[in-house]
Amino acid sequence: MLQTLELSTFDEVNLFFDTAADRLGLNDGLKQMLKRPWRELQVQIPVRMDDGQIEVFTGFRVQHNGARGPYKGGVRYHPDADLEEVRALASLMTWKTALVDIPFGGSKGGVQVDPLRLSQGELNRLTRRYTQQIEHLIGPNRDIPAPDMGTNAQTMAWIMDAYGQLHGHSPAAVTGKPVEMGGSLGRESATGRGVALVLEEAAKDAGLDLQGAKIAVQGFGNVGSWAARLMYDSGCRIIAVSGIDGGVFNLDGLDIPKLQDYQRATGGVVGFGGGDGISNSELLESDCDVLVPAAIDNAITAENARHIKARMILEAANHPITPEADRVLSEGGVTILPDVLVNAGGVVVSYFEWTQNIQEFHWDEIRVNEELKKTMLRAYHEVRTRSVNAQISNRQAAFEIGVQRVARAVELRGFV
Ligand code: GLU
Repeated sequence: MLQTLELSTFDEVNLFFDTAADRLGLNDGLKQMLKRPWRELQVQIPVRMDDGQIEVFTGFRVQHNGARGPYKGGVRYHPDADLEEVRALASLMTWKTALVDIPFGGSKGGVQVDPLRLSQGELNRLTRRYTQQIEHLIGPNRDIPAPDMGTNAQTMAWIMDAYGQLHGHSPAAVTGKPVEMGGSLGRESATGRGVALVLEEAAKDAGLDLQGAKIAVQGFGNVGSWAARLMYDSGCRIIAVSGIDGGVFNLDGLDIPKLQDYQRATGGVVGFGGGDGISNSELLESDCDVLVPAAIDNAITAENARHIKARMILEAANHPITPEADRVLSEGGVTILPDVLVNAGGVVVSYFEWTQNIQEFHWDEIRVNEELKKTMLRAYHEVRTRSVNAQISNRQAAFEIGVQRVARAVELRGFV
């Protein structure tokens, strides 16, 4: 127990990896190779702040595995982004891209900064300097950044511009760009849409009628708000939503379009008139059918897991459930749909964006959403079939499929 508490997020993800690798019978050498990142870079990012002072930030880019294609993964701006967390998130990208079978490896970037504290000018300068520091590692055929927590389409436009100043116009060097800059239609909503698509399929298999089903969503950033909106549009009852500083609850269902307007106007969900105030822990423990953690990693721990009433959890965030909590919930009969499946919609449409940039041919939104649906449903059913046949959890099934594909690519390359 004590030992588990001391594990880093990367160690925790690797517990899931180990179980998968052992069941697949991978040898120790291959396991080491698949587990450890292939390349890691830590950089210094000095920024001239608006008051004239220089502040020095720390940034990372971790390239976990490139056997199946160029490394792919977002860039996170968060005060707690450290090397271990970025490693964990990079490894999740490896298993995620393999599971949904898109031709990428896995990577992640991070800068230790609270983006809400910085002005747009400061963020622009920070992003440019970070890009200059990692420019030799990234590129359309090397490693392709995208948005993650604390970054957005504007951040990607700055990366594209800073990279382009060194290498010439290169829209395929980064995804999640604004549509006006070669971004894909449907990219902004893609992760949330993927969450809603997985829920629809999983609910059918679980015999859960989604019309009026009670859903709680932790986190109302890009992923949480789009997921809530699309689930609301398809008839679900979103009873609780929370942001960083608290949430709102309404047993009859929150009016999500109005809540989105409120968030745009005030910057948060707290104080919304269409519901009562609720804390983040009350949200997790609320009397819902489906819980959607769409905020930070490690939000659900062994302690609060015991109080969760939901029968199904969709991991819209990356690694929101610790392994201990995963065990508690599974023993309690809760169905968990894992992050590498549930939130893969973002990187899937990133793949579509990259292909559109390379072909210099743009798809309409209907095509993007149709292809996304096809990809997500195929992955969901592969996971479900494996989990039912082998009597293992959805997470183990998802990891096994991902790990097996990456192991096979390593073997075929023949570089060891
Ligand atoms: N940051 C997102 C994720 O964790 C998207 C990554 C991407 O599009 O490359 O999956």
